[in-house]
Amino acid sequence: MVRENEIRENEVSVDPPAATDAGLVFIGRISTPWTSRMETPRQGRHDGPLCRIEIFEPWIPALKGVEAFERLEILYWLHRSRRDLVLQSPAGNGKVHGTFSLRSPVRPNPIGTSIVTLEGVEGDILLVRGLDCLDGTPLIDLKPDRTLFKPIAPPQPGDYQTDENAP
Ligand code: SAM
Repeated sequence: MVRENEIRENEVSVDPPAATDAGLVFIGRISTPWTSRMETPRQGRHDGPLCRIEIFEPWIPALKGVEAFERLEILYWLHRSRRDLVLQSPAGNGKVHGTFSLRSPVRPNPIGTSIVTLEGVEGDILLVRGLDCLDGTPLIDLKPDRTLFKPIAPPQPGDYQTDENAP
């Protein structure tokens, strides 16, 4: 069962502090085939439909080099989520789970993340597979999949620090 904004049996909401959204800037918009949460996949799949990520000015030059990565990590703002539940019942059966033990879109800061397969870059547009968000979802950030990325900056002492050799 996918929620719109209803409260289910045993779910608990709180009065959240006024949202300031930490000064986030939406850097683009995601186009997907889905216009209803009832149809959107719960998690994207790498053989899923081709989706488009449009990057807004002035951020387009920041795409330089992304084509080198087969997979990207995409962060997006699940803008139609409610944000006030601490206990949720994903199955709608009265059994509740803490929000932070779930990947539900309903969370105090509704950030979604997906690892996508990069199929192409056409100017300010990325073509990807693996998303699970509504058409028009705002884009917060994108970066190379961490398993593919090797830091370019020189190493720092902390890179070698373990529990055993900690100062
Ligand atoms: N892959 C992300 C993650 O794990 O962080 C998101 C997973 S979340 C379970 C995906 C669900 O969020 C979709 O099935 C849909 O019901 C809902 N959703 C997608 N886009 C949304 C949006 N823009 N606003 C609110 N809910 C959205």
